[in-house]
Amino acid sequence: MDSLEDYFPTKAVKRAEARMASVLRAESDRLRNLGKLDVQKVRESLPQILQFTADYHAAFMGYLDAVLPQHKNPIKCGPGCGNCCHHYPMSIEPFEHIAFYATLRNREDLFSILEACVLRQEKFSGFAEAALSAEAPSEDPEEDALHEFFARGYTCPFLRDDGCCGVYDVRPVTCRMYFSQTDPCYCTPEFLQTEKNKSFIVYLPDYIEEAIAEISEYYEDLDLPEALYAGVVQMNALDGEIFV
Ligand code: SF4
Repeated sequence: MDSLEDYFPTKAVKRAEARMASVLRAESDRLRNLGKLDVQKVRESLPQILQFTADYHAAFMGYLDAVLPQHKNPIKCGPGCGNCCHHYPMSIEPFEHIAFYATLRNREDLFSILEACVLRQEKFSGFAEAALSAEAPSEDPEEDALHEFFARGYTCPFLRDDGCCGVYDVRPVTCRMYFSQTDPCYCTPEFLQTEKNKSFIVYLPDYIEEAIAEISEYYEDLDLPEALYAGVVQMNALDGEIFV
């Protein structure tokens, strides 16, 4: 996977970073006054958490608009592809879990969504256990499990039949950061680490990542997982305490 971690600091990039930093600073200031969040505090400040998450996602999209033109080759991703939606989505921030679940909880198909999430969570746990207990475990068993999950082709339960994301507006940043400079037909397990596939990840600058991590620490008592599907299940368990 090819990535360009340091983008040239054009005015557009600086503006996008400043906007992201300002969104994060405002939330950080708000949380500093509240202290560590428990379910009651989450419930009481739900509108602010949802607004912050929407602002954070909008700021990330602004950052993409500023940095993607710096890649020499045009981005080949487009609506209806969905090839990257067979990964096991990780690195979800706790406030993203809350905002994501808030849009799901009243859906008529919530039960089947939960079933699909539990199934994928169990599959991934099985791959992780197998990787850990292998006779010669690799240096990164979690990475092995992620590869195995992708190789098995488990489609994200939110991917629609037309290949578009069914939760597009609230999809987490981890679903927004992957791009391909080659035909998306090569974003499949057999081509992923070959010359035919030039996919890459857009990373945020370290100081922005640190600010996000600082905000997420306020949620640590909720013990939300990093994985999207496990987060949906855990948020469902907290539903009655947070959403009243
Ligand atoms: S949430 Fe949407 S973008 Fe993310 S993996 Fe699922 S279908 Fe794809």
